[in-house]
Amino acid sequence: MTSTMISNPPTLSDYAVLSEASMPSMFTLPPDVQALREEVRDFAQKVVKPRVLANDLAPADEFDWEVVQAGHELGLLRLTMPKEIGGRGVGVLGVAVAMEELASVCASTALIFGASLLGQTAVLLSGDPALQARYLPPFLGDQALLSCNAITEDVAGCDLLIPDNAEFATDVTTARRDGDHYVINGIKRFITNGHVARWCNVFANIEGQPVADGLTAFIVDLDLEGVTREAVADKMGYRACLGTTLVFENVRVPATNVVFGEGKGWNFLTAQSNQARATVAAISTGVARGAFDIAKQWCGERIQGGRPLYQHQFSARKIAEMSAKIDASRLLYLQAAYQANNMLPSPTYGPAVAKLFADRIAIEVTEEAMSLMGARGYCREYGVEKFVRESFGARIYEGTPEVLAIAITGALYGHRV
Ligand SMILES: Cc1cc2nc3c(=O)[nH]c(=O)nc-3n(C[C@H](O)[C@H](O)[C@H](O)COP(=O)(O)OP(=O)(O)OC[C@H]3O[C@@H](n4cnc5c(N)ncnc54)[C@H](O)[C@@H]3O)c2cc1C
Repeated sequence: MTSTMISNPPTLSDYAVLSEASMPSMFTLPPDVQALREEVRDFAQKVVKPRVLANDLAPADEFDWEVVQAGHELGLLRLTMPKEIGGRGVGVLGVAVAMEELASVCASTALIFGASLLGQTAVLLSGDPALQARYLPPFLGDQALLSCNAITEDVAGCDLLIPDNAEFATDVTTARRDGDHYVINGIKRFITNGHVARWCNVFANIEGQPVADGLTAFIVDLDLEGVTREAVADKMGYRACLGTTLVFENVRVPATNVVFGEGKGWNFLTAQSNQARATVAAISTGVARGAFDIAKQWCGERIQGGRPLYQHQFSARKIAEMSAKIDASRLLYLQAAYQANNMLPSPTYGPAVAKLFADRIAIEVTEEAMSLMGARGYCREYGVEKFVRESFGARIYEGTPEVLAIAITGALYGHRV
């Protein structure tokens, strides 16, 4: 566009031209991602929403395969797979946008798909054609299946996320080379989809090595002898996605199932986390938006003191702040996803900042939404209290605020605190 188009002073139609013609590409979603957003929004409203309450109230180990199958038919389990092999090829940006839409209705459902895509990320990032040929095509079939990703242990949570903590991560899951196999022993905790997944990307330490050198990722079929799926965690939120204990007892895994190479676990984990954090920031943004939408409508309809709540200055200030936080959070996750899609080496700072901010504002916004709705905000049938419970979940997985702060200051100072 030419400078003469923005005459002095600019008119409203000049702004319309500006918004269409000169927005940086970062702010305009690619057409296939825009189309995906509409499809997932429709799916979330029509298929997910009617099941949210029942799935939230169901016993901790009950799983809704029907919603997964419906999402699979939409393509949600092949979002990151290349178009050439039948995937949707929308990258981290597409996954993030889909996660916001799903989480604005149900964060648990978003995480079922997100955790499975994270398992696939391991296979995709491995660059190993043999692993890809074995583990990706099943996601292109008619029947839905899930994968998962196992880092957390009883004895090590953040110790397996903070490289400087690694020397203290003793007694973690081990892998011992035995001919053309590795033998895996250990216990993983809180593994999303662990109860129902077909295979898992498992982080284990090569026996006899310090964790800083020996951490290695393996694709492990969960029907192998020696794998036991144990208790499902009875969580405060995220109840529709099952977090499970996985026990590995002398599980023989082919050496060809190593992802990225023996001892490359930390490098690989960083690249995988940088992608995942952008998409979890989108989940938190969706959680905030879901609660906000309910409260916004309520404040437009509820009359107290002779006028709608939004016309009282205290409420107006809250509503405006909530809206601004959600918009800022969305911009940060879009930027982070864009970076994760396009930058090498894999960017640590952007995704960590996006997740830190989104996780915080999800808690703030859902809490304000609950308070704006009075007693109704505290009752299940209105939906806001579930968003409050779920807002705390994303602050734990894929990096607590402390883990993220270490990553962010590491990037800012080139040195870890
Ligand atoms: C909904 C949900 C889904 C999950 N899904 C998965 C999954 O699919 N796969 C998986 O592997 N795990 C999963 N987890 C587990 C999650 O990743 C871990 O809970 C998380 O990494 C924290 O580990 P921890 O609970 O053992 O806490 P700990 O590591 O014991 O940490 C406790 C507290 O200490 C802080 N802390 C620890 N070290 C430091 C330090 N050096 N400096 C400052 N503070 C520190 C932490 O930030 C935290 O606040 C999930 C958890 C939840 C809630």
